[in-house]
Amino acid sequence: MTIYSHSRLSTFEQCPLKFKYNYIDQIKTEIEQTIEAFMGEMVHKSLEKIYVDLKFRKLNSLQELMDYFNDLWKKNYNESILIVRKEYSAENYRQMGEKFISDYYEKHTPFNQSITLDTEKRIVINLDKEGKYVLQGYIDRLACKGTVYEIHDYKTSSSLPLQEYADADRQLALYSIAVKQGYPDAADIKLIWHYLAFNKEIISKRSEEELENLKKETIELIKQIEACKEFEPKTSALCDWCEFRGICPKWKHLAVTENLPVNEYLNEDGVKLANKYVEFNKKKTDIEDEMSKIREALFDYCKKNHIEVVFGSDNKLVCKTYENFKFPGKNELLRKHLEEALKKLGRYDEVAELDVFKLSRILKSREWPENIREILMNFARDEKVQRIYIGKKY
Ligand code: SF4
Repeated sequence: MTIYSHSRLSTFEQCPLKFKYNYIDQIKTEIEQTIEAFMGEMVHKSLEKIYVDLKFRKLNSLQELMDYFNDLWKKNYNESILIVRKEYSAENYRQMGEKFISDYYEKHTPFNQSITLDTEKRIVINLDKEGKYVLQGYIDRLACKGTVYEIHDYKTSSSLPLQEYADADRQLALYSIAVKQGYPDAADIKLIWHYLAFNKEIISKRSEEELENLKKETIELIKQIEACKEFEPKTSALCDWCEFRGICPKWKHLAVTENLPVNEYLNEDGVKLANKYVEFNKKKTDIEDEMSKIREALFDYCKKNHIEVVFGSDNKLVCKTYENFKFPGKNELLRKHLEEALKKLGRYDEVAELDVFKLSRILKSREWPENIREILMNFARDEKVQRIYIGKKY
């Protein structure tokens, strides 16, 4: 049985291929960590120290904490840490870390807002009664005030999310299930995110019903992961921070060519082919534009001269104009009403057509149960489709 974690689930949602590289193939890359993750880890460790030492009645001064943070940074920083935002240096990130810690320190000292029960607390969440679906996680800090339990999470991201994002967050909500299971006296559980870059907290709660739904949704997601056969790459802005960029089919070519000297770059086979394709495609578009203008002129000519056939040197062009009905397309609002009207009139089946593209997509993504898929696959034949889409590089 696989024990899942929030980050495992999020990785699959972000990109199934990244999930495969990371958790199935367990590929190790040269990139150990991004600078954001490294800075976050150093800050987390420093904030953890505050509460661990307090258990032993030791209140660190801000200076002691800063020294601890900087010492950790020095001992652990290495050149394999990836800095995506080239305009910033590791030093900028170190200073950010210092600021996060000092702001947090000033705001919370002497740290007696609640009683800390544990830091980096490992929790295990049973999503079903049979114990078939299990998740584990680590709570940055678990605290309580009487029977009100608090799950604290430190965030070093540079954007402050909206309250609705926190209200829909999965990670801490899942952790609250474990806290509820482990501490029966918990009358209330607060989910608290400390957005350190803004020196702000965002607080949320979940009802019993919301947690039950969350369990079901999470089980569904696990089932989807376990049924997944084709781990397709899913590109997003997060690809810049992905440690598998160098081997990912979506980015590998850029990764191997971007640092080549100009001459070598322009002579690289892939670059040459791509440039040629775009050049010819541009010519094709220009020709199509020209064709559309000639077409328009031809119909104008026919109209003016009351003719339907225009003769050239070797060919004749039959230019037909006729009336037709145009009904709302698939994505137009009226389409639904049209379909309903046809169904009511008992005429829908006479004009409805099977959408084989949609069918192919559903069967590929295995959305339908396997027994249905097996029957329908008897009608499918393998076909190799090759398409080229032109997009902007950046
Ligand atoms: S680079 Fe992007 S598409 Fe490729 S594996 Fe990573 S997240 Fe997925």
